[in-house]
Parts: sequence; structure tokens; C-alpha cells
Amino acid sequence: PSSQTFVDTTIQRRKTRPVQVGNVTIGGGAPVVVQSMINEDTLDIEGSVAAIRRLHEIGCEIVRVTVPSMAHAYALKDIKQKLAETYQAVPLVADVHHNGMKIALEVAKHVDKVRINPGLYVFEKPKSDRTEYSQAEFDEIGAKIRETLEPLVISLRDQGKAMRIGVNHGSLAERMLFTYGDTPEGMVESAIEFLQICESLNFHNLVISLKASRVPVMVAAYRLMVKRMDELGMNYPLHLGVTEAGDGEYGRIKSTAGLAPLLADGIGDTIRVSITEAPEKEIPVCYSILQALGLRKTMVEYVACPSCGRTLFNLEEVLHKVREATKHLTGLDIAVMGCIVNGPGEMADADYGYVGKQPGYISLYRGREEIKKVPEDQGVTELINLIKADGRWVDP
Ligand code: SF4
Repeated sequence: PSSQTFVDTTIQRRKTRPVQVGNVTIGGGAPVVVQSMINEDTLDIEGSVAAIRRLHEIGCEIVRVTVPSMAHAYALKDIKQKLAETYQAVPLVADVHHNGMKIALEVAKHVDKVRINPGLYVFEKPKSDRTEYSQAEFDEIGAKIRETLEPLVISLRDQGKAMRIGVNHGSLAERMLFTYGDTPEGMVESAIEFLQICESLNFHNLVISLKASRVPVMVAAYRLMVKRMDELGMNYPLHLGVTEAGDGEYGRIKSTAGLAPLLADGIGDTIRVSITEAPEKEIPVCYSILQALGLRKTMVEYVACPSCGRTLFNLEEVLHKVREATKHLTGLDIAVMGCIVNGPGEMADADYGYVGKQPGYISLYRGREEIKKVPEDQGVTELINLIKADGRWVDP
């Protein structure tokens, strides 16, 4: 009935403030940004420039590099310059994996964003009895953190650059661990403590991450973070990731299991898939997750039936051929269905359909309209001809 209201299947993204990282915007309604990290030693200028460029060319929109020493911080100046001269400016993030403020301050001059880990700002005297920290102890340590962090915050603020407050489940500071346990609450409070220091210094170019290698912990932490930020009137964008997801099929599934429920709820403004493989392998996984959720469309969407006893051709082989012939096109939905029985109805309104008609013949569809029946061995060629005739073809 026309009066019925249907469920809107578009993901409603959480409203966040935009944070600029070089020429890329995180949050503020911008498309979910894909990022990754190079494996090269930052001191290897040529190697790092080549790796950053490789990643950027295949769609990594922000590239992270590690900065373990002052020499690495200086190296970033050369890397940034060389990239601009030989390729283009790529938004770079420096990972400062310790409470090394001199290093962070130096590198802040050369990159677009600095990532810090609150768990490494440890000023507490270790307690052997594992008792909770009192408010007074929190305040005292908080003052020391503030004093340490302030120059970096001011430098980034005054340069219009960004900071990621990157909490890791595996490296919470002792005061968080003893007070909140090894929990999402501890992760969230750790981020809030740093956020409040930044806000008090009028610095808001902030992105938050709460990564864990266990999917339920990571999902709970991000959800709790959103709730706490809502309570506090904060709307910072979130960087999603499952750490140490491993490799291969399970690494990809584990990452997807962590990212998808959050993204489907509109949570998440930038993502990284961390798999134990070359960083180039992470990028297609990121884009596939975003495409499957309808958040970004960067490749052809293939709809294909699983095949069954009714299938009239070798579906796996044909899907492979169709994909090879059309994968360079963007913005199209192409369906490959084994038979006419359920085929056209289940093509999910694809732009084009390749459907088993009768033994030895397939039908080509434009939307739901059957265009022509052709012998199976001409199917892929005729599909390409149809796309060409519609003016939607580009040469690879
Ligand atoms: Fe089987 Fe046809 Fe459904 Fe494919 S579309 S699974 S061939 S019934």
C-alpha cells in the first residue's frame, strides 16, 4: 500500500566534527576514509617514499609511519619533501609510540597528524597491591600528563594539524587498569582523560581510536565511547580497527566482524584493517567492507547466485570471466544468475544481468528488462557490447 512507510536502508552516519588531515577530511559527513601503515624503516627515505606512494596509488588515503627516534622525526621532513617533489602531497600520520615529547614536537612540524597512545603516559608509582586509584591520585597524574602533552597540543593546534588519541586495549596505563580493569570502560576513560586536556587547550582536531584484538571488546569500547561523548557533548570522529587480526581469510573476516556492526550503526569515520600481510593487501579489504555496506562505491558490485541443480552453466567460471572483463568499471552493478526461475527477480535491481535461459543460451538484461538471448559462448562479449552500446564502457 502506498501509505506504508518502508524502512530506510541507508546507513545514517553519526554526526561528527570534520577533522582535516592534509587534503583529506575525517568526519563531518565525509566518506569513510581508508588508511594503512607502511612497514619500512622511516630512516630509509627512498624506501619509505616508494612505499607511501604505492599505498596511496591503490587507494590508501592517509598513510601512517612509525617514529621511534629523533632521527626518524627528522627523516619525515625529507620524506614529505620528496613526496611533494616526485609525486604529490600525501596526508601523513606519525605514530609516536612512547612518551617522547621532543620527538612528537619535531615530527609535528613535518606531518599532518600525530598519533599518541595514552597508555604510554605513565606517571604513577607502580602499586603492588593493585588497588584502585583515588580521584586525588588521578588529578595529580592528570596534571603531569597535561604538562607533558601541552606543548604538542599547542603546536598541532597552531599549525592546524590533527591528533589521534589511539587507545589500545593491550597497553592501558596502570591507573586505568587497576581502577576499571582490563575493560572497555578503562579504554574509554583513558581517551576521555586526554580529550578533556585537549579541549581545555582549545584543541579540537581530534580523532579517537579504541583498538583491541578481541572483536567483542573493540565493538563494546567504540559503542561506549559514543555514549560517553554524547553525554559530554563531544562529537569527535572515530578511527576504527581490530588490532592483530592475523592473516588470510580469518584475518579479513575478523576485521570485518569488528568494523561492520559499528559502521552499519553509523559509527566510524576512518578505518584500518590490520592484517599480517603486506599493507597493500589491506586496502581492497577496507573498500570491500565499505562497498558491501553501501558506504562507498569504488568498484563494480557483482550479484551472483550460489548455483544449484537448476544452474544452466558453469557459474563460477562465468562469474570469473565477467569479473575479469568488467572489474575496471566503476559504479555498475552486474548480476550473474544461473537460471531464469529465480534469476531476474533476485538480481537486486542490478544494472545488467547475465542469466541462464536454456541449455547453451543465456539472456542479457538491462535492469529488469530482457534485452536478448545469445549463445552461451558469446555471453561475455555480448554483455560488453551491451554496456558499450549504453555508453557505460571505458577501456581498461
Ligand atoms: Fe539455482 Fe537459479 Fe537460484 Fe541460481 S538463480 S541458485 S540457478 S534457482
